[in-house]
Amino acid sequence: METFDFVIVGAGSAGCGLAYRLSEAGHSVCVLEAGPRDSNPFIRMPSGVVKTRIDPKITWQYEVAPTAHTNNRPIGLLTGKTLGGSSAVNGMVYNRGIRSDFDKWAAAGNAGWDYNSLLPYFRKSERYLSGGDDQYRGRFGQVPISLLEHRDPISDRFIAGAEETGVRRTEDYNGSEQEGVSYVQTTIHKGRRWSSAHAYLHPAVQKFRVDVRTQAVVRRILIENGRAVGVDYARPGGNAVRTVHGRLGVIICAGAIASPKLLQLSGLGPASLLRDLGIPLVRESPGVGENLSDHIGTRVVARLKRGSGSINEGVSGIRLLWQGLRWLTGRPSLLALSAATVFAFCKSAPEDQDTDYTLMFLPGSLAKGEGRSLDKFPGCTSVSMQNRPESRGYVRIRSKDVNDLAIVQPNYLTAVIDQKVQVTGIKHLAAIYRSAALAPLIEEFTLAPLDQCETDDEYLDYVRQTCQTNFHPLGTCKMGLASDRMAVVDSRLRVHGVEGLRVVDASVMPTQPSGNLNASVMMIAEKTAAMILEDVRRR
Ligand SMILES: Cc1cc2nc3c(=O)[nH]c(=O)nc-3n(C[C@H](O)[C@H](O)[C@H](O)COP(=O)(O)OP(=O)(O)OC[C@H]3O[C@@H](n4cnc5c(N)ncnc54)[C@H](O)[C@@H]3O)c2cc1C
Repeated sequence: METFDFVIVGAGSAGCGLAYRLSEAGHSVCVLEAGPRDSNPFIRMPSGVVKTRIDPKITWQYEVAPTAHTNNRPIGLLTGKTLGGSSAVNGMVYNRGIRSDFDKWAAAGNAGWDYNSLLPYFRKSERYLSGGDDQYRGRFGQVPISLLEHRDPISDRFIAGAEETGVRRTEDYNGSEQEGVSYVQTTIHKGRRWSSAHAYLHPAVQKFRVDVRTQAVVRRILIENGRAVGVDYARPGGNAVRTVHGRLGVIICAGAIASPKLLQLSGLGPASLLRDLGIPLVRESPGVGENLSDHIGTRVVARLKRGSGSINEGVSGIRLLWQGLRWLTGRPSLLALSAATVFAFCKSAPEDQDTDYTLMFLPGSLAKGEGRSLDKFPGCTSVSMQNRPESRGYVRIRSKDVNDLAIVQPNYLTAVIDQKVQVTGIKHLAAIYRSAALAPLIEEFTLAPLDQCETDDEYLDYVRQTCQTNFHPLGTCKMGLASDRMAVVDSRLRVHGVEGLRVVDASVMPTQPSGNLNASVMMIAEKTAAMILEDVRRR
């Protein structure tokens, strides 16, 4: 029997951070990751997302079942499947969210999750290299973060257009206040993607006692007398099962879709679902898989005047080789850009206390706005994302077989407030496209005719027709008090009713932070590692 101090399931944003901190403290750690090693060269190259996102070897490819709210379109939703998890294939924008996001978590009974208590863990995770205020920014963490160095005339015009509509500039949206427009901060360092594997896991393997096993699909959590003692795993599609035990605990970090799936497969979940699938109930936990929330973004793609400086032109034909050479030799390159160059954090009404939507911009465009290659014409893309959607859905297993993908249904746009904020955001984008700064560059809207929308209903239909996921599923093992039947973990991220078992990843967030998730997930890993080490010392 193989035994480690801790078994961690999933080497994603959270799993890698935990592996580092627990092994740094002297513990033996076994990390089991369903995907392969992160040796695909497109992972390190920031623009490689165009390739990695469609590669089923390193991504889980889900499809959200169509609903009338999104004009009956199927919507693809992917997450990462390699060392680094989703941080190995994400858009690399670093964005924490705002104070009230976390204060809300604490107000729901989760002691220690208010912004003031979490700030030290945000700071602990990051090494911010672009100035900012020491009160908010970390200097010594494992994750290098910097303001995108790239500047280009189209992004500058988008910023100027946003200013024309009343958005002010901000120096640091991860500082005291988020509101404003700015080039983005990224997890790109020296032109390379810095996934959580590069920031945490690979250094931990070099320095500490971490045993990383890839192509190791965990099938079941082993629970004996109410205590999680280990897990069973096998190669993808394989049946030769191996077991590892965690002396001090089993930590599930498989992400917001796979963590509830694994709990359900292990007999922890809604009783009726498990009964229908013939899975013996270990403990009824109706919240496992429920409360799924995701950020969607309404997309605008525009064809620009020739010679405007779009990335599409900058990497077309022989220029791609030139940019590749620049990237390989460590010089500034269009291949080293994040998925967006500019973010604008906005309020629906000036008197609102908090920002409630984010506008994102990239001076380049993918075919059909979501495709696998760049448009042949000079293009730009923008996205409007509601920060705190209220629509909720679920993740449910469809069989006992771990190799079957779970059903994922976020129920996009079912909440009326979500429709409203998306309409406000897209109208704002339309205004920026009409601004004196940006309008002269625009030839036509290619994804859908944004300029033909006049009424709110027409804008809402535009939203329904063009929205896609921003890849931020969360909430499916939400943190909360034991008195809340839908809460799956407590505020120390221990699964209610099972000893020795924690879930630590995006699934524990009860609601969306007003930002992309990677920063918050890494913060959660830092905070939970500290709580686990405290618990071990108290034993
Ligand atoms: C395409 C895309 C773009 C994004 N863009 C951004 C962005 O620009 N900025 C940002 O901040 N956030 C972004 N995000 C979101 C962010 O990256 C994720 O929210 C975050 O990485 C989730 O971390 P996690 O630890 O919860 O899960 P993950 O990082 O997804 O890790 C889960 C890991 O568990 C593994 N696993 C699953 N099941 C099993 C099993 N049964 N056995 C063993 N291992 C298993 C998976 O293979 C995976 O490696 C993006 C995400 C995606 C997918």
